[in-house]
Amino acid sequence: ATPTAIMVGTGKGAENGILIKSAEALETLHGVNAVVLDKTGTLTHGKPVLVEVIPAEGVEEDEALRITAALEQKSEHPLANAILEAAKARGLTLPGAQDFTAIPGRGLSGVVAGKRYYLGNLQLLGEQGAEAGALKAAGEAQAQSGRTPLFLADGQRALCVLAVADTLKPTSAAAVQAMREMGLEVIMLTGDNAATAQAIARQAGVDTVIADVMPQDKEAQVRQLQAQGKRVAMVGDGINDAPALARADVGLAIGAGTDVAIESADIVLTKGDLLGVPAAVQLSRATLRNIK
Ligand code: ADP
Ligand code: MG
Repeated sequence: ATPTAIMVGTGKGAENGILIKSAEALETLHGVNAVVLDKTGTLTHGKPVLVEVIPAEGVEEDEALRITAALEQKSEHPLANAILEAAKARGLTLPGAQDFTAIPGRGLSGVVAGKRYYLGNLQLLGEQGAEAGALKAAGEAQAQSGRTPLFLADGQRALCVLAVADTLKPTSAAAVQAMREMGLEVIMLTGDNAATAQAIARQAGVDTVIADVMPQDKEAQVRQLQAQGKRVAMVGDGINDAPALARADVGLAIGAGTDVAIESADIVLTKGDLLGVPAAVQLSRATLRNIK
């Protein structure tokens, strides 16, 4: 690669919101054949909204939301915002929560008014020996339509399902289509459950989904794809994504993402949407063509 071609390519990128940190990144990108996309905050806005509260029999809806919000006060997860906003909108007064613990990839636990609660996915309930009961089907129905079901449970049973929706960014589907037309395999990687992930993937036109991935396992998933002979570009926005971004042949961070993701990436897409991915690959291919 001539330094001039790289300089021209890097300059063109910068004009279009594609910040390329090294000559190597621009060169490597042209040989990539698989793009791994994080779901939350990358394909979707990453600003989840609470859309439905489904209490178990004998449980009062606002009371379930009050306990849930009390627990989420101590969480830094994007899902916590959705719950806290909804509680505020309903004018609920929140009690304090004690003994809070975040359970990565699962949810959280804490004590409200002297009682221990668990909030998170079905795996969390299973691990705590709490019965989902009739709420299991309610959660599945929500997941089928692309919403993330959160279960509030005490040690015995599920008390409530809270359905949270996080919508696709308006450009995501077009960006995925452009990647596919360029001959790239597009894969979604997420900690969310398989049914929700499949529904969002369908909306985005992504056909391969790797779901239920624990935060610390995203990097291993990228390594596994590489072991299958794929040359991987990973696109993400979050703290969870940093090791996977570093592991990928090329890591691309979405501009509005966390500082850690931006530091770990080779390329930063400052416009915050996925159209920057096909544009960056196109730029890399054009730059390398000029070189040969
Ligand atoms: P993502 O890839 O969406 O960032 P995470 O690994 O952070 O996934 O979380 C996986 C799942 O764990 C979530 O979909 C949710 O069901 C549950 N979870 C994690 N944190 C929380 C929280 N603060 N409140 C409720 N549920 C949570
Ligand atoms: Mg994310």
